[in-house]
Amino acid sequence: MLQLPVYLDNNATTPCDPRVVAAMLPYFTEIFGNAASRSHPLGWAAEEAVDNAREQVAKLIGATPKEIIFTSGATEAVNLAIKGVYETYTTKGNHIITAVTEHKAVIDTCKHLEKQGAQVTWLPVNHEGLIDLSELEAAITPKTILISLMYANNETGVINPVRAISDIARKHGVLFMTDATQAAGKIPVDVNNDGIDLLTLSAHKMYGPKGTGALYVRRRSPRVTLTAQIDGGGHERGMRSGTLNVPGIVGLGKACELCMEEMAADTQRILPMRNRLEKALLEIEQTYLNGAPGQRLPHTCNLSFKYVESETLMMGFNKKIALSSGSACTSASLEPSYVLKAMGLSDDLAHASLRFGLGRFTTDEQIDFTIQTITDAVTQLRTISPIWEMYKDGVDL
Ligand SMILES: *Cc1c(COP(=O)(O)O)cnc(C)c1O
Repeated sequence: MLQLPVYLDNNATTPCDPRVVAAMLPYFTEIFGNAASRSHPLGWAAEEAVDNAREQVAKLIGATPKEIIFTSGATEAVNLAIKGVYETYTTKGNHIITAVTEHKAVIDTCKHLEKQGAQVTWLPVNHEGLIDLSELEAAITPKTILISLMYANNETGVINPVRAISDIARKHGVLFMTDATQAAGKIPVDVNNDGIDLLTLSAHKMYGPKGTGALYVRRRSPRVTLTAQIDGGGHERGMRSGTLNVPGIVGLGKACELCMEEMAADTQRILPMRNRLEKALLEIEQTYLNGAPGQRLPHTCNLSFKYVESETLMMGFNKKIALSSGSACTSASLEPSYVLKAMGLSDDLAHASLRFGLGRFTTDEQIDFTIQTITDAVTQLRTISPIWEMYKDGVDL
């Protein structure tokens, strides 16, 4: 029997892998020491566990352990990276380049800095969700200190041409930071091959626990320095004070190790399921794929079902399939996704979109069920829709 709901919201968060939980458990009760306690074995054991996790995280992205700073998640890591660079490199300039389709963590951090006097260039995207590289290069000025562009988009799965971006950044001596929260652990990411200076990731997007993440900070060519955003005991080489979340960090490390070992196999299983789901749903009349078809994460698929409100669609089956719509609840109103809007979708099409986020635990049976359920629901809603009837009657809408 298929267990409901079918979980297809892995871009919002993933379940913890049971192997991650098993690795974490001893660090709550038995090995509970403070990793900063240097005077007894319980502290040493905790520190050793943190060191091991630091190596596991570093390995996943081709970094060295000393370049990893543990945080409470990607949001904190993004804040530390962007604000930390802004405050440190103020003598060089105050200009930051980013894009309109970034995660709110990046957008709101940049908006905050704008109020403090930062100059921010907000790059637009084309209908596939891609920035124009010549536009990026043209935006660089002598005052540019940072380019912040995500590795892969959380709503559409669109992957940025990271290497081409870093080549431009290097050429102009500008630091390049990437929010790799959706990409790390899912596709190969290598800070050296990719030319990345700062990178953020989060455990709960890669089968680890919530509330733990990391920031990669390059130490060599160039050596990046940051201004701390949290002051205290000088943990994490002074860049992020606060007692380390040892079980969480152990979980993040284990999650990275598992992703490293199983990424290829996971993709080999997930990609055909994603493609099958996508192909079947695109067979529904007036259904559109959002995002560059050949440049997306293997587990993500974003579709618009024209003339169908995704919120209404979800009400029909939301106890059976857990996923996200292209509408975001901001205060009292439903706003269409700013990512889809930036790609040129109308409010209607953005409100008619669903994001399917598959994961390590998605099964073929769940995909069968989803195809059937969504197809039935869309068909059903359209039969009772006056707008659909008008469209079928050839009325120009
Ligand atoms: C989830 C997500 C974040 C935020 O991560 P948290 O660890 O939940 O703070 C940032 N960027 C992207 C692209 C994400 O998907």
